[in-house]
Amino acid sequence: TFITFEGPEGAGKSTQVKALAKALKKAGRDVTTTREPGGAPGAEALRSLLLDKDNHWSPTAETLLMNAARDTHIRHTIAPALSRGEVVLCDRFCDSTEAYQIGADEALIAQLREKVVERMPDLTLLFDLPVEVGLSRANERGAADRFEARGLDFHQAVRERFLAIAAREPSRVVRIDANQPQEDVEKEVRAAVNARLPG
Ligand code: C5P
Repeated sequence: TFITFEGPEGAGKSTQVKALAKALKKAGRDVTTTREPGGAPGAEALRSLLLDKDNHWSPTAETLLMNAARDTHIRHTIAPALSRGEVVLCDRFCDSTEAYQIGADEALIAQLREKVVERMPDLTLLFDLPVEVGLSRANERGAADRFEARGLDFHQAVRERFLAIAAREPSRVVRIDANQPQEDVEKEVRAAVNARLPG
C-alpha cells in the first residue's frame, strides 16, 4: 500500500508520517518511510541542490530535477518496498510538483508524471491549513529554504492547487484539517488509513 503525505509548509506532515509509521508497525505491518525530493542517494543530492537558496532554478528546471529525483526514488526505494508487500509512507510526492512548480508548463508536468510515476498512491493525505498558520509554524522552527522564503501569494496559490487536486481526485485524496491539535490530526489520519488499508 502506497500512502503519500501532501500539504503546505508547517502543516505537520513529517510528524504525522512518524506517528502513522509507529502505529502501523505496532499493528505488525512492515513500513518504509521516505520523502521527496529525496529518498534515494542521488535524489537526496538533488534535494540539496533544489533547496539551496543560492541556486536560481526556473520552474521548468525545478520540474525536471524533481522528476529526475522521483524517477530514481521510485526505482531505488518505493517500487522495491511495495513489491516486498510493505506499506510505503512518503512525505510529498507528485502532487507537490503540481502544486509548487508554478509557472512550468502544465502539460509538461502532466507528461512527466505519466512517464515517471508508474503507480499512483493508493491514498494521499492532504494536510490543509491557512497559509499564515503554516508559515508562522515553519518560521518558528527556523526553516527558510528557497521555497519557504517566497511570498504569501505564492503559498496561497500552492494551497489552492492542492485543493484543486483533491477536488479532481476525491477517491485518492483525503483532506485532513491540519489546523487542530496534533492528536486530533492523528485521529483523522488513522480513520482515513483504516478505511483504505486492506486486511
Ligand atoms: O516537505 P519539506 O518542507 O521538507 O519540503 C522541502 C521544500 O521543498 C519545501 O519548502 C517545499 O515547498 C519544496 N518543494 C517544492 N516542490 C516539490 C517538493 C518540495 O517546491 N515538488
